[in-house]
Amino acid sequence: MENSKAKELQEKLFYKKKSAFEAMSENELDEVMEYAKGYSIYLDTAKTEREAVDYSVDMLKAYGFEPYVLGMPVYPGDRFYHVNRNKSLIAFVIGSEGVEDGFKILAAHVDSPRLDLKQHPIYEDGGFAYAKTHYYGGIRKYQWATVPLALHGVVVLKNGEEIKVNIGENEGDPVFCITDLLPHLAKDQNAKTLATAFSGEGLNVLVCASPFMEDGKVCDVDEKIKLNVLLELYRLYGITEEDFISAELCFVPSAKCMDIGFDRALIGAYGHDDRVCAYSELTAMIENLDGKNSIMCILADKEETGSDGATGMQCRLMVDIIDSVSKVLGADGAAVRARSKCLSADVAATFDPCYPEVFEKRNSAIASCGVALAKYTGSGGKYGTNDCHAEFIAEIREIFEKDNVLWQTAEMGKVDAGGGGTVAKYISRYNIDTVDVGVPVLSMHAPFEVISKYDLYSAHKAFCAFCKY
Ligand code: MN
Ligand code: MN
Repeated sequence: MENSKAKELQEKLFYKKKSAFEAMSENELDEVMEYAKGYSIYLDTAKTEREAVDYSVDMLKAYGFEPYVLGMPVYPGDRFYHVNRNKSLIAFVIGSEGVEDGFKILAAHVDSPRLDLKQHPIYEDGGFAYAKTHYYGGIRKYQWATVPLALHGVVVLKNGEEIKVNIGENEGDPVFCITDLLPHLAKDQNAKTLATAFSGEGLNVLVCASPFMEDGKVCDVDEKIKLNVLLELYRLYGITEEDFISAELCFVPSAKCMDIGFDRALIGAYGHDDRVCAYSELTAMIENLDGKNSIMCILADKEETGSDGATGMQCRLMVDIIDSVSKVLGADGAAVRARSKCLSADVAATFDPCYPEVFEKRNSAIASCGVALAKYTGSGGKYGTNDCHAEFIAEIREIFEKDNVLWQTAEMGKVDAGGGGTVAKYISRYNIDTVDVGVPVLSMHAPFEVISKYDLYSAHKAFCAFCKY
């Protein structure tokens, strides 16, 4: 009898994390698989911030969204999107009750770690031509060697014409790669630490291995292999070496996303961080267009390098749009912001049983236990974090519970193991209640990251509930 009393008390008093397999209905478990299909297409189509913005605009247009220009008139029910320099996007819908009660803001980012080409990238050495790169975001350099890479990006000509580049994704395309030492000769390299064994200047991508031929003979000029590269780029895109100066080209892993495991519960892909939240928030807004709430979806650029620049979240554009829209609707921008609420939609770290030493399991996100809410991110004693106030988290708990959202809390790792940040602090600084909520990821920032389809689905459901109430 005593035992059953204890059990009863435990049921009542203890918090118990549930997995999707315990919490979801059979019907919902099927929906999880269905929802992941659309996301897989998004992933394969949108590997850079520009591609993500283009694809997202197409999605929005299909639901009647129109381009927004600062200062233009808006009315309740209107659906708009504003593309910022082709690299970030703010879409919004004005709810039936206007903006007096604030916006429900969902903010993800669409840039991912990668290898950017330098402005004078092409050189040749030892019978090969290479592209010099400058890595973008927090990569572990060794992971990028011996991985097939694709070239993505744009070249903007002096006359303003924008040429889109994409090599290495389609059947029959060549790919590119960074070579690594053979183990037989890696004795000295093996003795170095992981952080020093690979250098940024060493991330040179192999792009060609044959010289330009003239009348069936090797031509009589210096840099014949480099010439061959430039000739091919000229043939394909009409560009010359000088045009690299006004280009944004990068190498990203060339593979398409793949289901992982016998049960297909996981998705492996490049760039889940943070397109997994971009897709789940966009689809959540699209499914909640005709409600009372005004909803704003942000797809930010530059998160991986600190959110600086005109397309990063530290740019005032979000505030300008809220203020402008408020003004034409007869509301005060500052008052609207004060009543706005934001889910900073970015990925969390999944507890990895192969590396338990860096995690504190009790406070880590566990795979397939739902979308993860992080009260704080940052590092070294909560530096550089939004650290959401308890009152707002309580509101979010209530909202998630209403719609039976499967969710959990997350902390990135052990207290002094490291850390990281999100765009949350660049939104809350404008007097907007903000908390981090996103999908847990394994191997974050690797060329092949892993998420659970159950967590993806839960994120979408969480964002839907946030838009709705
Ligand atoms: Mn992120
Ligand atoms: Mn990241």
